[in-house]
Amino acid sequence: MNAAGVRMVVTRARSRGTGASLQGGGEKAAPLRSGEAAAEGRKSYGPMKRQRKARRLSVAYEASEGEKGEGPEHLQAPSWEPQDWRQQLDNIRTMRSGKDAPVDQLGAEHCFDPSASPKVRRYQVLLSLMLSSQTKDQVTAGAMQRLRARGLTVDSILQMDDSTLGALIYPVGFWRSKVKYIKQTSEILQQRYGGDIPASVAELVALPGVGPKMAHLAMAVAWGTVSGIAVDTHVHRIANRLRWTKKATRSPEDTRRALEEWLPRELWREINGLLVGFGQQTCLPVHPRCQACLNRALCPAARGL
Ligand code: SF4
Repeated sequence: MNAAGVRMVVTRARSRGTGASLQGGGEKAAPLRSGEAAAEGRKSYGPMKRQRKARRLSVAYEASEGEKGEGPEHLQAPSWEPQDWRQQLDNIRTMRSGKDAPVDQLGAEHCFDPSASPKVRRYQVLLSLMLSSQTKDQVTAGAMQRLRARGLTVDSILQMDDSTLGALIYPVGFWRSKVKYIKQTSEILQQRYGGDIPASVAELVALPGVGPKMAHLAMAVAWGTVSGIAVDTHVHRIANRLRWTKKATRSPEDTRRALEEWLPRELWREINGLLVGFGQQTCLPVHPRCQACLNRALCPAARGL
């Protein structure tokens, strides 16, 4: 890739790419598919520059018009990558081929009302992501169903009293705090964004109760833009077990930065759902099912578990 081809995008990017899947009144209501809108691209750097640039890229970026459509063969290999990661990834894809994990049926792509307007759908995506932290997918989906039955929009949430909102989202994790955050965020969305959600990671993480994982997933699902790898506890745990980070990482954010150093960008969108489902079904937090795992012979952590 031409070095000049990558540029930062920290402002609203609604008019770009097929991120418009949830845009425009006459468009289809289907959720975005993996890789639908991401402009692919990567830049080559020396070790120090590369490290600094990776932090900046963590906000969001996209390739220039001339580079869209270029494949990974144009990308320069990273200076470090984990041993056997391609085989491990293929094995996980095989184990996940049934697409029957909770995240496959109940993740953020499935929680919004497909008949709602694009703006409302984007709001519902963000809300489901806010509800989902520290919460099982089934519980999040139930809360979203109850909210949607009341007509889930920025206005309806702002008109709802806190105790009603709390009763509707209970028992999601930290529901009391989430009532407060949802109200505050909805107020900001109405005042600053005309009831829509912002289209940049920087603006999304500035909203109360919205973290980096939610922001990257919102960018992917609501806007169709791959802004970074969405790392939750499953991705964080599995990346460390497989030694997909150069050294052990202490937080999901550290893991995200470590993965973005070497994982080809065309896999950034896929990796979240793939590893979350793998973590729900096989590589469990406690007592992972190593005996049934195709990666057993390739997994550095298998022996110690
Ligand atoms: S072998 Fe065990 S620890 Fe390693 S990836 Fe598979 S389930 Fe996880």
